[in-house]
Amino acid sequence: SYGSGVGPQRNIRVVLRTRPTAEFAGDIIKLQPGGKSVNIHIPKDPTGEGGHINNKQENWDFRFDNVYHNVGQETLYDECAAPLVKGMFQGLNGTIMAYGQTGAGKTFTMAGATENYKHRGLIPRVISQVFKEISEKPQMAATVWVSYLEIYQEQIVDLLTTVDGAEDSTSALIVVDDKSGGASVRGLNLMIANNEEDALNYLFEGETNKSISEHQMNKVSSRSHCIFTLHIEARSRQENSEKVLYSKMNLVDLAGSERISKTQTTGTSLREAMYINKSLTFLEQVVIALADRRREHIPYRQSKLTNVLRDSLGGNCNTLVIACIWGERQHIEETVSTLRFASRMMCV
Ligand code: ADP
Ligand code: MG
Repeated sequence: SYGSGVGPQRNIRVVLRTRPTAEFAGDIIKLQPGGKSVNIHIPKDPTGEGGHINNKQENWDFRFDNVYHNVGQETLYDECAAPLVKGMFQGLNGTIMAYGQTGAGKTFTMAGATENYKHRGLIPRVISQVFKEISEKPQMAATVWVSYLEIYQEQIVDLLTTVDGAEDSTSALIVVDDKSGGASVRGLNLMIANNEEDALNYLFEGETNKSISEHQMNKVSSRSHCIFTLHIEARSRQENSEKVLYSKMNLVDLAGSERISKTQTTGTSLREAMYINKSLTFLEQVVIALADRRREHIPYRQSKLTNVLRDSLGGNCNTLVIACIWGERQHIEETVSTLRFASRMMCV
């Protein structure tokens, strides 16, 4: 649970999720029974060729808060995300991020498969629980807003400008300090969602806008960070009560973490990859700085991603990182890179 585990008061949890495959390379990716650690064992390649890292024998041990192998959406939600929704009703901001190379299951984890209700992801489940919690608290008057943005090459794009009642953002969206010491994106549409269906419609509309802009700009969404945010404001209906609760939850589908390939030497794809590498490195630096209680300066402003999330990481917030990996042998280098990134966050 949050606030326990390694070190005092950990408010970040890191879990691993494997994408189901018939070719899971169980001989090199060893998932330890008990479900919390992974051992990577890559034997030395006797032929001296083949896709082995540095052609050396490699051994790594990684430990996580949990390892989810062949685990469905509902279990993942119940065990990992539901506690963050509870936290929102105690005034705690939350952030859930899916990290990993393209194709490893980030979007499946966050949004899920729309054609199959059983496979809906964490975002629709969070939405559903938020409205359920509200309906169970008749003594509370709550308002829910949603926003949905994309960060592409360090530009923030509003994905909800086309919905009814939204304003078209003509000027560039920038992150500003808000009154309460948090961060907000100036010009970003915050749409009131009166119920679960409203919020789901905004999610859906945002997805549609994402794919339209993909066609227009000839880009793929795996090259941008997408953040769907639920904001709640709640006050007691009792007279004389001035207590106001405000919290938000960011649901982040990060850009693919794959490293720059040898063929990406020029042009858009190289530029995209450089922006992504940088922003993921800055994200890691922020998380690690937050863990070090002696650090007073947290370098949030180095990138749009950490700046947008700055009041929802560390401090009085709950953070969940879901590292998504492929289990096939051919992806082992990226898998190791994902495991290393995620395990550095575990040391926090
Ligand atoms: P990413 O967003 O990381 O690029 P996707 O989420 O789009 O990857 O996943 C790639 C494909 O694999 C999709 O067709 C998706 O439905 C499928 N997939 C990923 N993870 C799972 C899972 N846990 N269970 C079933 N299908 C999955
Ligand atoms: Mg994706």
